[in-house]
Amino acid sequence: MSAAEDYRNQITSISYRNQAFIDGKYVAAASGKTFDCVSPIDGRVLTKVAACDQEDVDRAVKAARAAFESGKWSTIPPRKRKKTLLKFAALVDKHKEELALLETLDMGKPINESLNSDMNAVVNCMEWFAETVDKMYDELAPARPDSVSLITREPLGVVAAVVPWNFPLLMAAWKYAPALAAGNAVILKPAEQSPLTAIRIAELAAEAGVPNGIFQVLPGFGETAGQALGRHMDVDMVAFTGSTEVGKYFLKYAGESNMKHISLECGGKSPNIIFSDVADLDRAAREAAAGVFYNSGQVCTAATRLLVQEDIRDEFVEKVAKYAEAWAPGDPLDPKTLMGSMVDKTQMERVMSYINIGRDEGAKIAVGGTPARQESGGFYVQPTIFDAVNNNMRIAQEEIFGPVLSTISFKDEAEAVAIANNTIYGLQANLWTRDVVKAHTVARALRAGTVNVNATDGGDITAPFGGYKQSGIGRDKSLHALEKYTQIKHTFINLR
Ligand code: NAD
Repeated sequence: MSAAEDYRNQITSISYRNQAFIDGKYVAAASGKTFDCVSPIDGRVLTKVAACDQEDVDRAVKAARAAFESGKWSTIPPRKRKKTLLKFAALVDKHKEELALLETLDMGKPINESLNSDMNAVVNCMEWFAETVDKMYDELAPARPDSVSLITREPLGVVAAVVPWNFPLLMAAWKYAPALAAGNAVILKPAEQSPLTAIRIAELAAEAGVPNGIFQVLPGFGETAGQALGRHMDVDMVAFTGSTEVGKYFLKYAGESNMKHISLECGGKSPNIIFSDVADLDRAAREAAAGVFYNSGQVCTAATRLLVQEDIRDEFVEKVAKYAEAWAPGDPLDPKTLMGSMVDKTQMERVMSYINIGRDEGAKIAVGGTPARQESGGFYVQPTIFDAVNNNMRIAQEEIFGPVLSTISFKDEAEAVAIANNTIYGLQANLWTRDVVKAHTVARALRAGTVNVNATDGGDITAPFGGYKQSGIGRDKSLHALEKYTQIKHTFINLR
Protein backbone atom coordinates (compact mmCIF):
# COMPACT_ATOMS: atom_id res chain seq x y z
CA MET A 1 0.00 0.00 0.00
CA SER A 2 1.36 3.45 -0.89
CA ALA A 3 1.75 6.06 1.84
CA ALA A 4 -1.04 8.13 0.26
CA GLU A 5 -3.40 5.12 0.33
CA ASP A 6 -2.47 4.53 3.95
CA TYR A 7 -3.43 8.12 4.80
CA ARG A 8 -6.71 7.71 2.85
CA ASN A 9 -7.53 4.68 4.98
CA GLN A 10 -6.83 6.61 8.16
CA ILE A 11 -9.30 9.31 7.11
CA THR A 12 -12.23 6.92 7.22
CA SER A 13 -11.74 6.41 10.96
CA ILE A 14 -11.34 10.07 11.98
CA SER A 15 -14.01 11.36 14.30
CA TYR A 16 -13.76 15.12 13.85
CA ARG A 17 -14.01 17.50 16.80
CA ASN A 18 -16.23 20.21 15.38
CA GLN A 19 -17.65 22.25 18.28
CA ALA A 20 -16.57 25.29 20.23
CA PHE A 21 -14.51 24.70 23.38
CA ILE A 22 -15.87 26.96 26.12
CA ASP A 23 -15.08 26.78 29.83
CA GLY A 24 -13.56 23.30 29.58
CA LYS A 25 -16.26 21.68 27.41
CA TYR A 26 -17.07 21.12 23.75
CA VAL A 27 -20.39 22.81 23.02
CA ALA A 28 -22.52 23.63 19.99
CA ALA A 29 -22.90 27.26 18.96
CA ALA A 30 -25.70 28.88 21.00
CA SER A 31 -27.61 29.47 17.76
CA GLY A 32 -27.17 25.84 16.73
CA LYS A 33 -25.70 27.04 13.44
CA THR A 34 -22.91 25.17 11.66
CA PHE A 35 -20.90 25.57 8.49
CA ASP A 36 -19.43 23.02 6.09
CA CYS A 37 -15.76 22.23 6.52
CA VAL A 38 -14.68 21.45 2.95
CA SER A 39 -11.41 19.71 2.09
CA PRO A 40 -9.69 21.53 -0.80
CA ILE A 41 -7.92 18.28 -1.71
CA ASP A 42 -11.03 16.91 -3.41
CA GLY A 43 -13.91 19.26 -2.53
CA ARG A 44 -15.47 16.83 0.00
CA VAL A 45 -17.31 18.04 3.11
CA LEU A 46 -15.34 16.67 6.06
CA THR A 47 -17.71 17.72 8.83
CA LYS A 48 -20.01 20.52 9.96
CA VAL A 49 -18.42 22.98 12.37
CA ALA A 50 -20.09 25.19 15.01
CA ALA A 51 -20.59 28.72 13.66
CA CYS A 52 -20.03 30.85 16.76
CA ASP A 53 -21.23 34.42 17.00
CA GLN A 54 -21.87 37.18 19.54
CA GLU A 55 -23.61 34.98 22.13
CA ASP A 56 -20.80 32.41 22.12
CA VAL A 57 -18.21 35.18 22.30
CA ASP A 58 -20.01 36.62 25.35
CA ARG A 59 -20.00 33.20 27.04
CA ALA A 60 -16.33 32.60 26.30
CA VAL A 61 -15.25 36.08 27.40
CA LYS A 62 -17.20 35.70 30.64
CA ALA A 63 -15.50 32.35 31.34
CA ALA A 64 -12.09 33.77 30.40
CA ARG A 65 -12.54 36.81 32.66
CA ALA A 66 -13.61 34.65 35.61
CA ALA A 67 -10.71 32.24 35.10
CA PHE A 68 -8.22 35.08 34.76
CA GLU A 69 -9.47 36.96 37.84
CA SER A 70 -9.49 33.77 39.94
CA GLY A 71 -5.69 33.75 39.68
CA LYS A 72 -5.67 29.99 39.00
CA TRP A 73 -3.40 30.66 36.03
CA SER A 74 -2.06 34.21 36.23
CA THR A 75 -0.74 34.05 39.79
CA ILE A 76 0.35 30.44 40.21
CA PRO A 77 4.09 29.81 40.72
CA PRO A 78 5.84 30.31 37.37
CA ARG A 79 7.40 26.87 37.47
CA LYS A 80 3.95 25.30 37.73
CA ARG A 81 2.69 27.25 34.71
CA LYS A 82 5.80 26.23 32.81
CA LYS A 83 5.27 22.53 33.57
CA THR A 84 1.64 22.66 32.45
CA LEU A 85 2.61 24.37 29.20
CA LEU A 86 5.41 21.86 28.58
CA LYS A 87 2.88 19.07 29.09
CA PHE A 88 0.53 20.77 26.61
CA ALA A 89 3.43 20.90 24.11
CA ALA A 90 4.24 17.23 24.75
CA LEU A 91 0.61 16.23 24.08
CA VAL A 92 0.58 18.16 20.81
CA ASP A 93 3.84 16.40 19.93
CA LYS A 94 2.34 13.01 20.82
CA HIS A 95 -0.63 13.67 18.51
CA LYS A 96 1.30 15.34 15.72
CA GLU A 97 0.62 12.66 13.08
CA GLU A 98 -3.10 13.04 13.63
CA LEU A 99 -2.88 16.85 13.73
CA ALA A 100 -0.78 16.92 10.55
CA LEU A 101 -3.35 14.82 8.72
CA LEU A 102 -6.15 17.12 9.90
CA GLU A 103 -4.17 20.15 8.72
CA THR A 104 -3.57 18.64 5.29
CA LEU A 105 -7.20 17.60 4.87
CA ASP A 106 -8.47 20.96 6.04
CA MET A 107 -6.25 23.33 4.05
CA GLY A 108 -4.56 21.23 1.38
CA LYS A 109 -0.88 21.57 2.22
CA PRO A 110 1.32 18.52 1.53
CA ILE A 111 1.40 15.99 4.37
CA ASN A 112 5.18 16.15 4.51
CA GLU A 113 4.97 19.90 5.24
CA SER A 114 2.21 19.52 7.82
CA LEU A 115 4.09 16.83 9.68
CA ASN A 116 7.75 17.70 9.34
CA SER A 117 7.57 21.45 9.09
CA ASP A 118 4.39 22.86 10.68
CA MET A 119 3.89 20.45 13.59
CA ASN A 120 7.55 20.50 14.60
CA ALA A 121 7.49 24.29 14.51
CA VAL A 122 4.29 24.35 16.60
CA VAL A 123 5.81 22.11 19.28
CA ASN A 124 9.09 24.05 19.22
CA CYS A 125 7.21 27.34 19.64
CA MET A 126 5.16 25.97 22.55
CA GLU A 127 8.23 24.58 24.31
CA TRP A 128 10.24 27.74 23.76
CA PHE A 129 7.67 30.05 25.32
CA ALA A 130 6.92 27.59 28.13
CA GLU A 131 10.62 27.66 29.02
CA THR A 132 10.55 31.45 29.36
CA VAL A 133 7.97 31.42 32.16
CA ASP A 134 10.40 31.01 35.06
CA LYS A 135 13.31 32.82 33.42
CA MET A 136 11.93 36.31 33.00
CA TYR A 137 13.07 38.86 35.59
CA ASP A 138 11.52 42.20 36.43
CA GLU A 139 13.49 45.44 36.81
CA LEU A 140 14.52 47.84 39.52
CA ALA A 141 14.83 51.43 38.30
CA PRO A 142 17.95 53.43 39.26
CA ALA A 143 15.76 56.08 40.90
CA ARG A 144 16.27 57.91 44.23
CA PRO A 145 18.38 55.95 46.72
CA ASP A 146 15.73 56.40 49.43
CA SER A 147 13.16 54.55 47.36
CA VAL A 148 12.46 51.26 45.66
CA SER A 149 11.21 51.76 42.15
CA LEU A 150 9.92 48.46 40.77
CA ILE A 151 9.10 47.85 37.14
CA THR A 152 7.03 44.71 36.82
CA ARG A 153 5.23 43.02 33.98
CA GLU A 154 1.69 41.78 34.44
CA PRO A 155 -0.54 39.80 32.08
CA LEU A 156 -3.10 41.82 30.15
CA GLY A 157 -6.10 39.61 31.00
CA VAL A 158 -8.30 38.25 28.20
CA VAL A 159 -6.46 37.89 24.89
CA ALA A 160 -8.27 36.95 21.68
CA ALA A 161 -6.15 35.40 18.92
CA VAL A 162 -7.71 35.73 15.47
CA VAL A 163 -5.69 33.77 12.94
CA PRO A 164 -5.59 32.87 9.23
CA TRP A 165 -5.69 29.57 7.38
CA ASN A 166 -2.29 29.35 5.70
CA PHE A 167 -0.45 27.80 8.68
CA PRO A 168 -3.51 27.16 10.85
CA LEU A 169 -1.92 25.74 13.98
CA LEU A 170 1.45 27.47 13.67
CA MET A 171 0.00 30.99 13.39
CA ALA A 172 -2.21 30.15 16.37
CA ALA A 173 0.78 28.86 18.39
CA TRP A 174 2.71 32.07 17.71
CA LYS A 175 -0.08 33.81 19.66
CA TYR A 176 -1.33 31.40 22.31
CA ALA A 177 2.11 30.12 23.39
CA PRO A 178 3.47 33.53 24.54
CA ALA A 179 0.05 34.77 25.69
CA LEU A 180 -0.46 31.74 27.96
CA ALA A 181 3.15 31.88 29.15
CA ALA A 182 2.58 35.48 30.24
CA GLY A 183 -0.40 34.38 32.33
CA ASN A 184 -3.33 35.50 30.16
CA ALA A 185 -6.60 33.75 29.33
CA VAL A 186 -6.74 33.05 25.58
CA ILE A 187 -9.69 32.78 23.20
CA LEU A 188 -8.57 31.41 19.85
CA LYS A 189 -10.64 32.02 16.72
CA PRO A 190 -9.32 29.94 13.84
CA ALA A 191 -10.10 30.89 10.24
CA GLU A 192 -13.37 29.44 8.93
CA GLN A 193 -11.39 27.65 6.19
CA SER A 194 -9.24 25.67 8.65
CA PRO A 195 -10.74 25.22 12.14
CA LEU A 196 -10.05 21.53 12.82
CA THR A 197 -6.62 21.49 14.48
CA ALA A 198 -7.40 24.44 16.76
CA ILE A 199 -10.56 22.70 17.96
CA ARG A 200 -8.69 19.44 18.54
CA ILE A 201 -5.89 20.90 20.65
CA ALA A 202 -8.37 22.53 23.05
CA GLU A 203 -8.94 19.20 24.78
CA LEU A 204 -5.18 18.57 24.84
CA ALA A 205 -4.75 21.83 26.76
CA ALA A 206 -7.36 20.67 29.26
CA GLU A 207 -5.69 17.26 29.53
CA ALA A 208 -2.37 19.01 30.26
CA GLY A 209 -3.99 20.84 33.17
CA VAL A 210 -4.65 24.28 31.65
CA PRO A 211 -7.61 25.45 33.80
CA ASN A 212 -11.11 25.82 32.39
CA GLY A 213 -11.62 29.21 30.75
CA ILE A 214 -7.88 29.81 30.18
CA PHE A 215 -7.72 28.30 26.68
CA GLN A 216 -10.93 28.37 24.64
CA VAL A 217 -11.59 27.95 20.93
CA LEU A 218 -14.40 29.60 18.97
CA PRO A 219 -14.73 28.51 15.35
CA GLY A 220 -16.80 30.85 13.22
CA PHE A 221 -16.75 33.53 10.59
CA GLY A 222 -14.76 36.74 10.66
CA GLU A 223 -17.67 39.11 10.36
CA THR A 224 -19.52 37.45 13.26
CA ALA A 225 -17.18 35.75 15.77
CA GLY A 226 -14.10 37.79 14.74
CA GLN A 227 -15.87 41.11 14.86
CA ALA A 228 -17.59 40.30 18.17
CA LEU A 229 -14.17 39.62 19.74
CA GLY A 230 -12.73 42.79 18.23
CA ARG A 231 -15.56 44.94 19.59
CA HIS A 232 -15.97 43.22 22.98
CA MET A 233 -15.67 45.60 25.94
CA ASP A 234 -14.09 42.92 28.13
CA VAL A 235 -11.40 41.65 25.75
CA ASP A 236 -8.07 43.29 26.63
CA MET A 237 -6.15 42.45 23.48
CA VAL A 238 -6.59 41.05 20.00
CA ALA A 239 -3.53 39.41 18.49
CA PHE A 240 -4.32 39.17 14.79
CA THR A 241 -2.69 37.54 11.79
CA GLY A 242 -4.36 37.94 8.44
CA SER A 243 -4.88 40.39 5.62
CA THR A 244 -4.05 44.07 5.85
CA GLU A 245 -7.67 44.90 5.06
CA VAL A 246 -9.00 42.97 8.07
CA GLY A 247 -6.13 44.15 10.26
CA LYS A 248 -7.38 47.70 9.75
CA TYR A 249 -10.88 46.62 10.88
CA PHE A 250 -9.40 45.54 14.20
CA LEU A 251 -7.90 49.00 14.73
CA LYS A 252 -11.37 50.41 14.06
CA TYR A 253 -13.10 47.91 16.38
CA ALA A 254 -10.65 48.81 19.18
CA GLY A 255 -11.20 52.53 18.62
CA GLU A 256 -14.96 52.11 18.69
CA SER A 257 -14.96 49.90 21.81
CA ASN A 258 -12.52 49.78 24.72
CA MET A 259 -9.17 50.75 23.15
CA LYS A 260 -7.96 47.17 23.56
CA HIS A 261 -4.37 46.40 22.59
CA ILE A 262 -4.06 45.30 18.98
CA SER A 263 -1.12 43.50 17.41
CA LEU A 264 -1.20 42.92 13.68
CA GLU A 265 0.72 40.54 11.42
CA CYS A 266 -0.60 41.32 7.98
CA GLY A 267 0.16 40.95 4.31
CA GLY A 268 3.34 41.18 2.26
CA LYS A 269 4.76 41.54 -1.23
CA SER A 270 8.34 40.58 -0.55
CA PRO A 271 11.13 41.45 -2.99
CA ASN A 272 13.82 38.87 -3.70
CA ILE A 273 16.76 40.85 -5.13
CA ILE A 274 19.33 38.95 -7.20
CA PHE A 275 22.52 40.91 -7.88
CA SER A 276 24.65 39.66 -10.74
CA ASP A 277 27.58 38.98 -8.38
CA VAL A 278 25.57 36.30 -6.52
CA ALA A 279 27.90 33.49 -5.45
CA ASP A 280 25.76 30.56 -6.58
CA LEU A 281 23.25 31.44 -9.28
CA ASP A 282 21.81 27.95 -9.30
CA ARG A 283 21.09 27.90 -5.59
CA ALA A 284 19.57 31.38 -5.73
CA ALA A 285 17.25 30.20 -8.54
CA ARG A 286 16.24 27.06 -6.64
CA GLU A 287 15.42 29.13 -3.55
CA ALA A 288 13.64 31.79 -5.61
CA ALA A 289 11.25 29.05 -6.78
CA ALA A 290 10.85 27.58 -3.28
CA GLY A 291 10.40 31.08 -1.83
CA VAL A 292 7.27 31.68 -3.87
CA PHE A 293 5.78 28.22 -4.49
CA TYR A 294 6.10 26.82 -0.96
CA ASN A 295 2.62 26.32 0.60
CA SER A 296 1.14 27.15 -2.85
CA GLY A 297 2.36 30.72 -2.39
CA GLN A 298 -0.03 31.17 0.54
CA VAL A 299 2.68 32.65 2.72
CA CYS A 300 2.78 36.22 4.01
CA THR A 301 6.53 36.39 3.38
CA ALA A 302 6.35 34.73 -0.07
CA ALA A 303 9.06 36.19 -2.28
CA THR A 304 6.60 37.20 -4.97
CA ARG A 305 8.60 39.98 -6.62
CA LEU A 306 11.76 38.65 -8.22
CA LEU A 307 14.09 41.60 -8.87
CA VAL A 308 16.94 40.48 -11.16
CA GLN A 309 19.90 42.56 -12.28
CA GLU A 310 19.65 43.17 -16.02
CA ASP A 311 22.80 41.34 -17.16
CA ILE A 312 21.78 37.96 -15.65
CA ARG A 313 18.05 38.23 -16.10
CA ASP A 314 17.42 35.81 -19.00
CA GLU A 315 19.72 33.14 -17.63
CA PHE A 316 18.25 33.47 -14.14
CA VAL A 317 14.59 33.37 -15.17
CA GLU A 318 15.32 30.26 -17.24
CA LYS A 319 16.80 28.55 -14.18
CA VAL A 320 13.85 29.51 -11.94
CA ALA A 321 11.48 28.17 -14.61
CA LYS A 322 13.35 24.87 -14.55
CA TYR A 323 13.05 24.63 -10.76
CA ALA A 324 9.34 25.53 -10.94
CA GLU A 325 8.69 22.14 -12.60
CA ALA A 326 9.31 20.36 -9.27
CA TRP A 327 6.45 22.40 -7.76
CA ALA A 328 3.71 21.11 -10.06
CA PRO A 329 0.74 20.39 -7.77
CA GLY A 330 0.39 16.80 -6.60
CA ASP A 331 -1.71 14.71 -4.20
CA PRO A 332 -1.32 16.41 -0.79
CA LEU A 333 -1.49 12.99 0.90
CA ASP A 334 1.56 11.76 -1.00
CA PRO A 335 4.69 12.40 1.11
CA LYS A 336 6.66 13.20 -2.06
CA THR A 337 4.39 16.09 -3.09
CA LEU A 338 5.98 19.54 -2.76
CA MET A 339 2.93 21.65 -3.60
CA GLY A 340 -0.65 20.81 -2.70
CA SER A 341 -3.92 22.63 -3.33
CA MET A 342 -5.08 26.18 -2.66
CA VAL A 343 -7.05 26.52 0.58
CA ASP A 344 -10.45 26.67 -1.16
CA LYS A 345 -12.32 27.41 -4.37
CA THR A 346 -12.51 31.13 -3.60
CA GLN A 347 -8.75 31.38 -3.23
CA MET A 348 -8.18 29.41 -6.45
CA GLU A 349 -10.52 31.75 -8.32
CA ARG A 350 -8.82 34.79 -6.80
CA VAL A 351 -5.42 33.56 -7.97
CA MET A 352 -6.73 32.80 -11.46
CA SER A 353 -8.28 36.27 -11.67
CA TYR A 354 -4.88 37.84 -10.84
CA ILE A 355 -3.26 35.72 -13.54
CA ASN A 356 -5.77 37.20 -16.00
CA ILE A 357 -5.10 40.71 -14.66
CA GLY A 358 -1.35 40.18 -15.23
CA ARG A 359 -1.98 39.06 -18.83
CA ASP A 360 -4.23 42.09 -19.46
CA GLU A 361 -1.61 44.41 -17.97
CA GLY A 362 0.88 43.18 -20.59
CA ALA A 363 3.10 40.90 -18.48
CA LYS A 364 4.31 37.75 -20.23
CA ILE A 365 3.58 34.28 -18.83
CA ALA A 366 6.85 32.34 -18.85
CA VAL A 367 5.50 29.30 -16.97
CA GLY A 368 2.09 28.01 -15.84
CA GLY A 369 -0.96 30.24 -15.74
CA THR A 370 -3.64 27.53 -15.53
CA PRO A 371 -5.56 25.52 -12.93
CA ALA A 372 -4.38 21.94 -12.33
CA ARG A 373 -5.65 18.52 -11.18
CA GLN A 374 -9.25 19.49 -11.92
CA GLU A 375 -10.26 15.82 -12.14
CA SER A 376 -9.58 15.53 -8.37
CA GLY A 377 -12.52 17.81 -7.48
CA GLY A 378 -10.02 19.96 -5.52
CA PHE A 379 -8.60 23.43 -6.08
CA TYR A 380 -5.11 23.53 -7.61
CA VAL A 381 -3.12 26.09 -9.60
CA GLN A 382 0.08 25.56 -11.62
CA PRO A 383 3.20 27.40 -10.44
CA THR A 384 3.18 30.55 -12.56
CA ILE A 385 5.98 32.92 -13.55
CA PHE A 386 5.34 36.29 -15.14
CA ASP A 387 8.21 37.95 -17.00
CA ALA A 388 8.51 41.57 -18.14
CA VAL A 389 6.60 42.87 -15.13
CA ASN A 390 6.59 46.55 -14.27
CA ASN A 391 6.49 47.31 -10.54
CA ASN A 392 3.43 49.54 -11.03
CA MET A 393 1.30 46.67 -12.31
CA ARG A 394 -1.32 45.28 -9.96
CA ILE A 395 0.36 41.85 -9.98
CA ALA A 396 3.49 43.54 -8.56
CA GLN A 397 1.65 45.66 -6.00
CA GLU A 398 -1.22 43.54 -4.64
CA GLU A 399 -0.93 40.44 -2.49
CA ILE A 400 -2.13 37.52 -4.64
CA PHE A 401 -1.50 34.78 -2.06
CA GLY A 402 -0.92 32.10 -4.64
CA PRO A 403 1.93 30.49 -6.61
CA VAL A 404 2.51 33.50 -8.85
CA LEU A 405 5.92 35.13 -9.36
CA SER A 406 6.45 38.55 -10.96
CA THR A 407 9.88 39.13 -12.53
CA ILE A 408 11.16 42.70 -12.67
CA SER A 409 14.63 43.74 -13.83
CA PHE A 410 16.84 46.51 -12.42
CA LYS A 411 20.08 48.26 -13.38
CA ASP A 412 21.89 49.01 -10.13
CA GLU A 413 21.68 48.99 -6.33
CA ALA A 414 19.77 52.26 -6.12
CA GLU A 415 17.12 51.11 -8.55
CA ALA A 416 16.80 47.74 -6.79
CA VAL A 417 16.17 49.43 -3.43
CA ALA A 418 13.71 51.92 -4.94
CA ILE A 419 11.66 49.15 -6.57
CA ALA A 420 11.87 46.91 -3.49
CA ASN A 421 10.57 49.65 -1.21
CA ASN A 422 7.87 50.82 -3.61
CA THR A 423 4.99 48.91 -2.00
CA ILE A 424 2.58 49.46 0.91
CA TYR A 425 4.05 46.34 2.55
CA GLY A 426 7.25 45.79 4.50
CA LEU A 427 7.25 42.28 5.92
CA GLN A 428 10.35 40.69 4.44
CA ALA A 429 13.00 41.29 1.77
CA ASN A 430 15.75 39.01 0.48
CA LEU A 431 18.95 39.90 -1.31
CA TRP A 432 21.64 37.80 -2.95
CA THR A 433 25.22 39.02 -3.40
CA ARG A 434 28.75 37.98 -2.49
CA ASP A 435 29.73 41.58 -1.72
CA VAL A 436 29.53 42.09 2.06
CA VAL A 437 29.45 45.89 1.81
CA LYS A 438 26.60 45.78 -0.69
CA ALA A 439 24.76 43.27 1.50
CA HIS A 440 24.89 45.55 4.55
CA THR A 441 24.16 48.75 2.65
CA VAL A 442 21.15 47.36 0.83
CA ALA A 443 19.85 45.53 3.94
CA ARG A 444 19.86 48.85 5.84
CA ALA A 445 18.01 50.62 3.04
CA LEU A 446 15.24 48.02 2.80
CA ARG A 447 12.09 48.90 4.72
CA ALA A 448 11.16 45.45 6.00
CA GLY A 449 10.87 43.70 9.37
CA THR A 450 13.08 40.85 8.18
CA VAL A 451 15.92 40.99 5.65
CA ASN A 452 17.52 37.73 4.50
CA VAL A 453 20.93 37.84 2.86
CA ASN A 454 21.66 34.88 0.58
CA ALA A 455 18.53 33.12 1.85
CA THR A 456 14.77 33.31 1.53
CA ASP A 457 13.80 32.03 4.96
CA GLY A 458 16.05 32.72 7.90
CA GLY A 459 13.19 32.61 10.40
CA ASP A 460 13.63 31.06 13.83
CA ILE A 461 11.63 31.11 17.07
CA THR A 462 14.51 33.06 18.67
CA ALA A 463 14.22 35.99 16.22
CA PRO A 464 11.38 38.55 16.11
CA PHE A 465 9.04 38.48 13.15
CA GLY A 466 6.72 41.24 11.95
CA GLY A 467 6.20 44.02 9.51
CA TYR A 468 7.05 47.59 8.66
CA LYS A 469 4.41 49.81 7.02
CA GLN A 470 1.07 48.11 6.30
CA SER A 471 2.48 44.67 7.04
CA GLY A 472 1.64 45.13 10.68
CA ILE A 473 2.22 46.39 14.19
CA GLY A 474 4.18 44.40 16.78
CA ARG A 475 6.28 41.27 16.60
CA ASP A 476 5.66 37.53 16.92
CA LYS A 477 8.30 35.01 18.10
CA SER A 478 11.25 35.70 20.41
CA LEU A 479 11.09 37.53 23.76
CA HIS A 480 9.74 40.58 21.92
CA ALA A 481 6.52 38.65 21.37
CA LEU A 482 6.24 37.89 25.06
CA GLU A 483 6.41 41.59 25.90
CA LYS A 484 3.28 42.43 23.98
CA TYR A 485 1.13 40.08 26.08
CA THR A 486 2.05 41.97 29.24
CA GLN A 487 1.67 45.47 30.55
CA ILE A 488 4.23 47.35 32.57
CA LYS A 489 3.57 48.53 36.10
CA HIS A 490 5.76 50.97 38.01
CA THR A 491 5.52 50.61 41.80
CA PHE A 492 7.25 53.33 43.79
CA ILE A 493 8.05 52.65 47.45
CA ASN A 494 9.12 55.54 49.57
CA LEU A 495 11.80 54.55 52.12
CA ARG A 496 12.00 57.93 53.84
P1 NAD B 1 -8.21 37.27 6.56
O1 NAD B 1 -7.76 38.63 6.95
O2 NAD B 1 -9.31 37.15 5.58
O3 NAD B 1 -8.69 36.45 7.84
C1 NAD B 1 -7.88 36.31 8.99
C2 NAD B 1 -8.77 36.08 10.19
O4 NAD B 1 -9.59 37.23 10.36
C3 NAD B 1 -9.72 34.88 10.04
O5 NAD B 1 -9.83 34.24 11.29
C4 NAD B 1 -11.03 35.54 9.66
O6 NAD B 1 -12.17 34.80 10.06
C5 NAD B 1 -10.96 36.86 10.41
N1 NAD B 1 -11.76 37.91 9.81
C6 NAD B 1 -12.07 38.06 8.48
N2 NAD B 1 -12.87 39.13 8.30
C7 NAD B 1 -13.07 39.68 9.54
C8 NAD B 1 -13.81 40.79 10.01
N3 NAD B 1 -14.52 41.56 9.19
N4 NAD B 1 -13.77 41.07 11.33
C9 NAD B 1 -13.08 40.28 12.18
N5 NAD B 1 -12.38 39.21 11.80
C10 NAD B 1 -12.36 38.91 10.50
O7 NAD B 1 -6.90 36.52 6.11
P2 NAD B 1 -6.77 35.06 5.53
O8 NAD B 1 -7.34 35.07 4.15
O9 NAD B 1 -7.28 34.06 6.52
O10 NAD B 1 -5.19 34.86 5.47
C11 NAD B 1 -4.41 35.39 4.48
C12 NAD B 1 -3.77 36.68 4.92
O11 NAD B 1 -3.04 36.49 6.12
C13 NAD B 1 -2.77 37.22 3.93
O12 NAD B 1 -2.97 38.59 3.74
C14 NAD B 1 -1.43 36.95 4.59
O13 NAD B 1 -0.39 37.79 4.16
C15 NAD B 1 -1.76 37.13 6.01
N6 NAD B 1 -0.77 36.47 6.86
C16 NAD B 1 0.14 37.23 7.52
C17 NAD B 1 1.10 36.63 8.31
C18 NAD B 1 2.10 37.45 9.07
O14 NAD B 1 2.66 36.93 10.02
N7 NAD B 1 2.36 38.68 8.71
C19 NAD B 1 1.15 35.25 8.42
C20 NAD B 1 0.22 34.49 7.72
C21 NAD B 1 -0.75 35.12 6.95
